[in-house]
Amino acid sequence: MTSRAGVDPSVPPSGTGCVECEAAGGWWVHLRRCTQCGHIGCCDTSPSQHATAHFQATGHPVITSFEPGEDWFWDYTTDEGFLGPVMCPATERPLDQTVPGPAERVPADWRDHVHE
Ligand SMILES: [Zn+2]
Ligand SMILES: [Zn+2]
Repeated sequence: MTSRAGVDPSVPPSGTGCVECEAAGGWWVHLRRCTQCGHIGCCDTSPSQHATAHFQATGHPVITSFEPGEDWFWDYTTDEGFLGPVMCPATERPLDQTVPGPAERVPADWRDHVHE
């Protein structure tokens, strides 16, 4: 398989939660991993949509799911999903992390804050 721009399997994820949400005390629904720099960001359903914001800020074009059992990739520049390479660990968030999470920061009315 030829290498693809924005996909570097050797770069590990930045952590177990959305970088910006962790810094701001926020919460998320699902997590996405930038396949160029390893940035973990929250999905477009999440209140703050930091994965997409990371693409818009950096131009890093590809994310992969950081959710257990999901291995899809998404290219923002073409709006297309594709099958990517096996990324270095960790390839998913810790299984004891809740959805939405992290549990201690999710408000009781979280459904009113998510995007469709
Ligand atoms: Zn976030
Ligand atoms: Zn990135």
